[in-house]
Amino acid sequence: MGEPLDQESISQGLGVSPGIAEAEVVVHWQNEEEIPLRDIKEADIPGEIERFEAALIATRQELLDIQQKIAGAIGADDASIFDAHLLVVEDRTLIDETLRGLERELHNIEFVFHQVAEKYCRTLGAIDDPYLQERVVDVEDVTKRVLRHLLGKSREEFHRLDRPHIIVARNLTPSDTALINRALVRGFVTEQGSRTSHSAIMARSLGIPAIVALPGICAKLTTGDQVLLDGYSGKLILNPSESTRLQYGQIERQKVEVAHQLDSIRDTRSTTRDGKHIVLSANIELPSELDAVAASGAEGIGLFRTEFLFLNKTEPPSEDEQYEAYKLVAERCSPHGVIVRTLDIGGDKLSHLSGHDGEDNPFLGCRAIRLCLAQPELFKTQLRAILRAAHHGQVRLMYPMIGQIDELRRANAHLEECKKELADRGVPYCHDIEVGTMIELPAAALIADQLAKETKFFSVGTNDLVQYTMAVDRGNERIAHLYQPTHPAVLRLLAMAASAAHQHGIWIGVCGEMASEIHLTPLLLGLGMDELSVVTRAVPRVKKALQSLDAKECGGVASECSAMTDPAAIEQKCRDYARQHYPELFDV
Ligand code: PEP
Ligand code: MG
Repeated sequence: MGEPLDQESISQGLGVSPGIAEAEVVVHWQNEEEIPLRDIKEADIPGEIERFEAALIATRQELLDIQQKIAGAIGADDASIFDAHLLVVEDRTLIDETLRGLERELHNIEFVFHQVAEKYCRTLGAIDDPYLQERVVDVEDVTKRVLRHLLGKSREEFHRLDRPHIIVARNLTPSDTALINRALVRGFVTEQGSRTSHSAIMARSLGIPAIVALPGICAKLTTGDQVLLDGYSGKLILNPSESTRLQYGQIERQKVEVAHQLDSIRDTRSTTRDGKHIVLSANIELPSELDAVAASGAEGIGLFRTEFLFLNKTEPPSEDEQYEAYKLVAERCSPHGVIVRTLDIGGDKLSHLSGHDGEDNPFLGCRAIRLCLAQPELFKTQLRAILRAAHHGQVRLMYPMIGQIDELRRANAHLEECKKELADRGVPYCHDIEVGTMIELPAAALIADQLAKETKFFSVGTNDLVQYTMAVDRGNERIAHLYQPTHPAVLRLLAMAASAAHQHGIWIGVCGEMASEIHLTPLLLGLGMDELSVVTRAVPRVKKALQSLDAKECGGVASECSAMTDPAAIEQKCRDYARQHYPELFDV
């Protein structure tokens, strides 16, 4: 009965989205394939051309399917999605050059096509034109798809499957994640990534259990394998035994009980035992998450990551399109507010749209506010849309990646221009929108006293603050152990920003992933944070944590932590303290 195959085996990764799932695996084909080289005879040419045409047709159909899927999944304007990809399948230069190469070289078609496509990408990429460089990404993607069809590797696309499954991939891009069929995907596992990579954040907001940082797992598993995924502990169990299943069944039951308890506090306020009210809001990427936010009991939205509106678009969305999206969010959040973050493209997000794809150090490159200041029209279109939406609800805006006061001033100068432009057009807008600054660069924390004089609030992006403080790429699994939110340096920067905010009479919140970690709630409360904006699914737990804590006492915990030197010991101290106050939330 093939015992070795059925034996249970456990792989340990990093659990980044809680939950337990059991289903069959689908390995998402991504690796560069070896392209075989064969000599052919002239008589084989028609057959090779036929294979090529069939692969192009199959790719075209695949793209149309995906296009439809994305339009359904994220409600985007279907006309523009993947249009550029479809053009590649019909690109005469690419096709004719391949056919000529076939006759000239007498090699198999996949080899010739691969060579031609590579050369084509190199030529396009070398031209100093952002539009053409953006097209390289499309051509590469389409080329891979065509090759997959030629090589007979066209796996089942995970978004076309009609049975429950767990996706296993080297990495998932935000657009892969957007394609996930929530009804059928029970979980996902990636070789790369960290807690704060964007696919992990998206998994948490979709409520899909996920594990990252499992190098080699794509080769180890085969489509059809049965696995149990434990998103709490990061364990992936191949061929789970009956006793493992029973044990996990028990864990699930405990979870359901806690969920009932949390349900009962949904409509209560997040006030600490000693009466300090902390605004507990949610982070969203897409307006489609609004129902979940409303159901979570959050006090509005503390971070709306607007770059996801730009996902899978060849052109940025227009002012009107953006206005409609922001207005919808503002109206649906009422009576609470929404903080719209201006575009944070670059880094690991949609860098092809930035026209700077291929930067050596994208996280240190032309990202977020830097890109917006370099492309004022892109920026101002968004600012006008936000100003207009703010006329319909409580909308604030904030700038990501501010590192210098000059950036804040220049951004605000654009905002003032936008107000004038809207006034000239006679379009209603909010005249006194509140503008905040994200603290995500150590530089920003260090000059927080200066920034505080020119901004209405701070929101700490700890994902980036930790990354930049520790010089640890937030998505690199090889150094994930060095990514330490409780490092004394991070604690000092947080304390510095909080005290600067309060000295200047403005409020400070945290919208990075640290805010969603219930074992760190005592620390953030103790450091003086006034607001926590968390992943929607964490709202009930963080609310319960806040209600179980005493803010003054937590101030003492934060002071003690600040005197410590070892990040792991600080984390343990916070965890022990939190566990004393809300043990049920830890009992998995
Ligand atoms: C952060 O850096 O903590 C943050 C909230 O922004 P993002 O994760 O989108 O970079
Ligand atoms: Mg950030």
